[in-house]
Order: sequence, then C-alpha cells, then structure tokens
Amino acid sequence: MSALLELDGITASYGAVQALFGVSLAVAEGQVVALMGRNGMGKTTTIRCISRLMPLTGGHLRFAGQNGAALGAPAMARLGIGLVPEGRRCFAPLTVAENLIAAARPGAWDMTRVCALFPRLGERMGQVSRTLSGGEQQMLAIGRALMTNPRLLVLDEATEGLAPVVRQEIWAGIRELKAQGLSILLVDKSLREIASVADHAVILERGESVWQGDVGALTPDLADRYLGV
Ligand code: ATP
Repeated sequence: MSALLELDGITASYGAVQALFGVSLAVAEGQVVALMGRNGMGKTTTIRCISRLMPLTGGHLRFAGQNGAALGAPAMARLGIGLVPEGRRCFAPLTVAENLIAAARPGAWDMTRVCALFPRLGERMGQVSRTLSGGEQQMLAIGRALMTNPRLLVLDEATEGLAPVVRQEIWAGIRELKAQGLSILLVDKSLREIASVADHAVILERGESVWQGDVGALTPDLADRYLGV
C-alpha cells in the first residue's frame, strides 16, 4: 500500500537562505508520525512545504496519490491536509461556534463530534475566541482543522506554552483521534508524550532527515544526540 503522504528529498529556501536540504518521510493511512529535532532544524518549514504555504526547490511531495508540488495551498487543503499551525491561529473576533462553522466541509466531523472530543469547547460555543485561554484556543484550532474533515491532521507544536494539565487534555484528544483511525503528522518536543501516541518518528538535523524509525527505537543516546534531552 502506498503512503498517504510521502516526501522524498525535499529542499526549500527562504530567499537566498536554504532551510531544507533533503527531508524524506512517509505517513501511512492511520499512522501517527512525529517530526522531531532541536530548534531551527526545519520542522515548521517542512510543515509549511507540506501544506504548500512555501514552495519546494527540489524533491518530491505526494499526498493522496497526487503530486503535491503542483498544487497550491487551497487545493492541498481540499485534498485533505488539515493544518493546525504553530501559534494556534483562530479568527479572534468570531465565537467558538462561528470559527468551527467557518471551517466546515462535508464529512463525518461536525460540531457535535468536535465537542465530544473537547467538551470545553462545547461549554464555550458563544464565547469570542480572543477571550479563550491558550489551551482552549489550541483545542479550537484543532477543532477547526477537524471540521475540514482532513485525511491527514498536521499539528505544529500543539502543546507548546500550555499548562501541564491542559497539555494532558490535548494529548488525550490526540490519542483519541488516533484511536478513531485518523492519520496524524505532529511536531513536538516532548519525548514522553510522543512515545505515548506516535508509531514512527523522524528526526531533522539542519534541514535534513537524519534518522527515522519506530518510536520504540528512540534510545536515550539518539535523544541526547539529536534532541538535546
Ligand atoms: P522551532 O522548533 O524553533 O520552531 P523548526 O525546527 O520548526 O524550529 P524552522 O522554523 O523550520 O525550524 O526553521 C528552519 C531554518 O529556517 C532556521 O534556520 C530558521 O532560522 C530559518 N527560517 C525559518 N523561518 C524563516 C523566515 N521566515 N525567513 C528566513 N529564515 C527562516
């Protein structure tokens, strides 16, 4: 079976400055893959390339059987990339419900199902999203991506800067999504949480994928060498 998402040696630059020097990874249907690496190693840039917010300068990108490099960001989203960007961007003046409705596309995910995943959102449907806590905004950002009924959910540092108890709620939500069979690519630095949910890990070092394997094979040595933990 071919992978849902496949990157083969992708390269990308910010102007004259090359940021990616060859990133390869694959996400199979129903798989959870963690993209890891220290600060500035190219994780967000890789995600920007996958969601077509940034052009590739080389390599191959296939998603859902299509040549992703030939598609723009809206086409990629329609094809099923559900991006939860770093910084959990929501439409601040809109309510929780309005944010969710604005993202909705036909499919199995609707507001009821999002609220079952994150009950806190259900309690705040009429609240303006600007006034939500950081954790609630993150739940809303994930809810918005789910409302598009993605084939692949892409999470960039979904728990960064949140209080431990809220982080646990988000991780519980991610584990539930996995149990429901959703394919997920996530960037995170928490080895422990990644070990609890991911099947596979890919490590980036200076814009290149330098290691990949089962999360169970992520030894303390590897973590020390590539992740600085
Ligand atoms: P972090 O964990 O800190 O978010 P990251 O692994 O996501 O890091 P990227 O944000 O992808 O790393 O950055 C990869 C490289 O690209 C870095 O050297 C960074 O300085 C550079 N870079 C990122 N964004 C820009 C930009 N807008 N303009 C120029 N260079 C950039």
